[in-house]
Formats: sequence, structure tokens, C-alpha cells
Amino acid sequence: MKRNIKEEIGEIGKRLYRANLNGGYGGNFSVRDEENIYITPAGVPKDVLDYSDILVIDFKGNVIEGLGRPSSEILFHIFIYKKREDVNAIIHAHPPFATGFSIAHLPIEGNIHEESVTVIGEVPIIPYELTSSKELAERVSDVMKNHEAALISNHGAITVGEDLEKAFRKMEDLDNLCKMVLVATIMGGVKKIPPEKIKALKELISARVSKSK
Ligand SMILES: [Zn+2]
Repeated sequence: MKRNIKEEIGEIGKRLYRANLNGGYGGNFSVRDEENIYITPAGVPKDVLDYSDILVIDFKGNVIEGLGRPSSEILFHIFIYKKREDVNAIIHAHPPFATGFSIAHLPIEGNIHEESVTVIGEVPIIPYELTSSKELAERVSDVMKNHEAALISNHGAITVGEDLEKAFRKMEDLDNLCKMVLVATIMGGVKKIPPEKIKALKELISARVSKSK
């Protein structure tokens, strides 16, 4: 199987750890190619992941390659890939600020900062279900059908992307956004971008993105 994908997943574990976006045994991340899903194992801290720890599974959850046990959240990864053709990478992590918002059951509106308007959109709260359960996988994948980032109640956060780098940047943006909202709340409250400016802002950013391609 593709060693470069496994190395990329191991590297993301270290980057999330160094950026204080995920500590210890928490979180799980995956990448898919045409045939398989590459996913982190259960029980290995994400900052010491080696490419050889990464498991390859099929879309039914059977292990094709690797020695460990796949992440206990394997189901929501499979469900999301089945529902989103454009998504090739998923990161679930426990970033401290976003997880704080998930504990407070505070969603983030999509019109409060340029990142929330153009990169991750609104960030909803997924109602609490037991970790690893089919119910959680169904709720998470239903919400991720039309969101790029979400908070999982009393648990953590999830982002998706066309590749692992994009999913990582969304997780970084999400935790930063939570810090900004926290500061704004302390300082008197979140104020929204005027609605009549939102369309122009989206057009401006998408023109920049297409230019940089
Ligand atoms: Zn978790």
C-alpha cells in the first residue's frame, strides 16, 4: 500500500500535537484513495505515530493491512466518505478551545469572521452520543454532508477536506476562531459582519483562490 499516505498521516499527528490541537491518545484521522481508507490505530499517542502504525481498511471496516486495531471511531470516517465524494481526508481531534465550545454546546455562526465566512462556514454542534457508537457515526456523517467543520458535543471537533493539509488548516482555523469568539464574548459580545457585505466578501475570496491556483 502507499507508504507516502501513511507518512503524511503520521506527520499530521505530530503537527496537531505541536500546534496544541490534539494531545495524547485523543483524536483520529484518515485519508482515502480509490480503493481503501488509511486510518490511525487505537491506543497509540498521535505525536509518536510511525507510518507503520497506520492501518489500511476497506469501506466495510475490514483491516487489509497493519497490525493494530483501527480507531474506535472508524464508523464515522466510513460514513462520511460514503456521503461526500469530494472529501478525501478527515481529522477528528480534541483541540482545547473548540472542545470547550463543544462542552458549552456553543455553535459558531458563519458570518462573524472572514475565516468563518469563506473557509469553514458555520460550525454546528452535533448532539451527544456515546463515543464509537453507530448513533454517533450517523449524526456526525449527517451533519458533515454539508459542513466543513463541526463540534461534537462534550467530545471534540471534526474537519474534512479534499486532502489532509486542507483538513488540518480547517482544524487550525476552527480552534483559532473559538479563541477569537471567547475574547469577543469577554469584551462585550460577538458582532456580525453586515449581511450586505457577505456576498461581496465571498466573491473577493473566491476570485483570490482561483487566481492562486
Ligand atoms: Zn475523540
